[in-house]
Amino acid sequence: MAIYIVLLGPPGAGKGTQAKIISEKMDLAHISSGDLFRENLKAQTELGKLAQVYMNRGELVPDDVTIAMVQARLQRPDCKAGALLDGFPRTPAQAEALSEMLAKNHESVTAVPYISVPAEVLIERLGGRWSCRAQGHVYHEKYNPPKTRGICDIDGSELYQREDDKAETVEKRIRVYFDQTAPLIDYYRQKNLLMEIDGTKSIEEVAGEIVSFLEKVV
Ligand code: ADP
Ligand code: AMP
Repeated sequence: MAIYIVLLGPPGAGKGTQAKIISEKMDLAHISSGDLFRENLKAQTELGKLAQVYMNRGELVPDDVTIAMVQARLQRPDCKAGALLDGFPRTPAQAEALSEMLAKNHESVTAVPYISVPAEVLIERLGGRWSCRAQGHVYHEKYNPPKTRGICDIDGSELYQREDDKAETVEKRIRVYFDQTAPLIDYYRQKNLLMEIDGTKSIEEVAGEIVSFLEKVV
């Protein structure tokens, strides 16, 4: 059976940070729907231009285009053994679509680590986030600074602050999370797939807790 891990949590919880660590450790493809939209935007595809409108407002991109994009990504050969999904699903309709697309291959979601972090911490995290242009590696000016200011430790590319990490947009994104994505906590809890992880601990401690949870279920 392939392994499908859904990393759940509000914007700024540390999903991208943890996804890089866990996907490498478990040798699983890392699929970030946000990164896929940003790649499309960089390439100026029609999807990228459409997504930008929603992203800049701090809103979710419509389900139909998001689902189609992730479905296509999951069909690539590097997902043969499964994938670690970061930022998808974000609505009940996306969660149902994921379940249906996996069921077609007699697969299902394996586990859902839910990284829980209070809203006031999220605002500080996103305000200090610096992202790498080449591969989306993330840093924080205070909690996880790069060795050289403005440069990614891993691939040497430029670090930038995301347009949607501005204070006004961050507040909107957190509201949208509580309205549209938080219902997935109960959705996956009822399926017995969820494990709540305290995301306020250090990056290493959070990674350790996620790994020990996954070792029990994978
Ligand atoms: P998400 O993908 O959930 O939006 P990120 O992984 O991009 O979140 O993390 C948001 C910001 O918080 C980044 O600047 C990151 O360096 C920082 N961060 C992530 N995990 C922690 C942690 N456990 N403690 C402190 N800062 C963290
Ligand atoms: P992220 O990189 O996960 O913080 O996502 C950045 C933005 O991309 C979000 O604020 C949304 O506008 C859009 N986005 C990413 N993933 C999804 C998704 N699963 N559904 C809808 N919109 C998404």
